[in-house]
Amino acid sequence: MPQGGVALGKYFGVPVRLHWSWFIVFVLVTWMLGAYYFPGVYPGWSQVTYWGIGAATSILFFVSVLLHELAHSWVAQAAGMQVKSITLFIFGGVSQIGREPEKPGVEFRMAIVGPGTSLVLGAAFWAIFFATRHSVEPLAGLAFWLGYVNISLAVFNLIPGFPLDGGRVLRSVIWWRSGDVRSATRTASTIGRGFGYLFIFGGIALILLNRSYWWNGLWLALIGWFLENAAVGSYRQVALQDMLEGHTVSEAMTRDCQVVPPTATVEQTVNDYILKSGRRCFPVVENGRALGIVTLHNIKNLSRDLWPRKTVREAMTPLDKTKSVKPNDSLTTTMQILNDDDLNQLPVMEGDSIVGLIARDNLLSFIHTRAELGM
Ligand SMILES: [Zn+2]
Repeated sequence: MPQGGVALGKYFGVPVRLHWSWFIVFVLVTWMLGAYYFPGVYPGWSQVTYWGIGAATSILFFVSVLLHELAHSWVAQAAGMQVKSITLFIFGGVSQIGREPEKPGVEFRMAIVGPGTSLVLGAAFWAIFFATRHSVEPLAGLAFWLGYVNISLAVFNLIPGFPLDGGRVLRSVIWWRSGDVRSATRTASTIGRGFGYLFIFGGIALILLNRSYWWNGLWLALIGWFLENAAVGSYRQVALQDMLEGHTVSEAMTRDCQVVPPTATVEQTVNDYILKSGRRCFPVVENGRALGIVTLHNIKNLSRDLWPRKTVREAMTPLDKTKSVKPNDSLTTTMQILNDDDLNQLPVMEGDSIVGLIARDNLLSFIHTRAELGM
């Protein structure tokens, strides 16, 4: 999943981000259109028109991809799901949705509306092309290319390999028929990986058969590689979520935490607590009151020569600076918090006291043990 980029503000309540790779797309598309495509198809425009229409087409291409993603978001929100963000990157857009849909019907509508929007846009641009091709040539040129691109976008996204829209449609249908979301995801991801390999080998074959197509071949292989990765990644995520579903923090947390006083130095903490116990995280408690947690991460951030002088109180993460969970909270929520805030562990609180800790390691060993037992 691409990270980073420029925030473009909120549209219909959904924050939209532009990944840096999109600037490459913008420059490439504008250059390809302004320097080659438009001059080749429409000789006789001025240089300003070529580049102006090239840039306008690029921007509208971006708007088209955004509308495709917003369509997914609208349906998701209408079904009561929270859409966290949309990121536009080199291969299109990615909507980050808080959780997976709970019913196959919701998934079907959510998936199909994206390519549907692209098809409608494609048809609208081609209608503009037919209406203006004898009168306003630059507008017709722009509309023809955008029509072609939107229809390609719809067709590409309809490839039935998860996590593409077509793969989600396929998964929802298998899920609806079998009632088993896990095996439906497995089937749809396997098909997604198959398409990934097909694109990679197709790309390589294209380069070997005809050197002048090396660019198309490379592009195809790159998309294939991306598809294969995405299929494996999203299957893993769904399988993980599925295994954590219905379980609570109390089933996986570490209870026998060793308490560290806030007055201890970092050096003492390392020697007397961390190295002796082999644990990674310690609640800091003073007179029975929890103040915070001290983790390996806190200590790694301090330079070694400060260890004898800094106290745990200075080095710890105070409780008001970290999120916490309760023993009865679900493990799926816990994983979501760890991922969203990029944390390694959370204190488990009951009232004002820390009753344990839950770390990524706890979730992993919880999953590992159950997988080994075939549960
Ligand atoms: Zn889509």
